[in-house]
Amino acid sequence: MAEYKCSICGLHYRSRELAEKCHGWCSTHDSCNLKIGEQSIEAGAGRRA
Ligand SMILES: [Zn+2]
Repeated sequence: MAEYKCSICGLHYRSRELAEKCHGWCSTHDSCNLKIGEQSIEAGAGRRA
């Protein structure tokens, strides 16, 4: 399974689309978007480390 990482905040996502969304947000807002972050692999702890 591929993982996509936001190079700014370091969160991982299961889809490139989400990682790009996160990256786009992080690069312009300098903070985390909870709605995006909650879809990260880290936020889904328990599913897969
Ligand atoms: Zn990010």
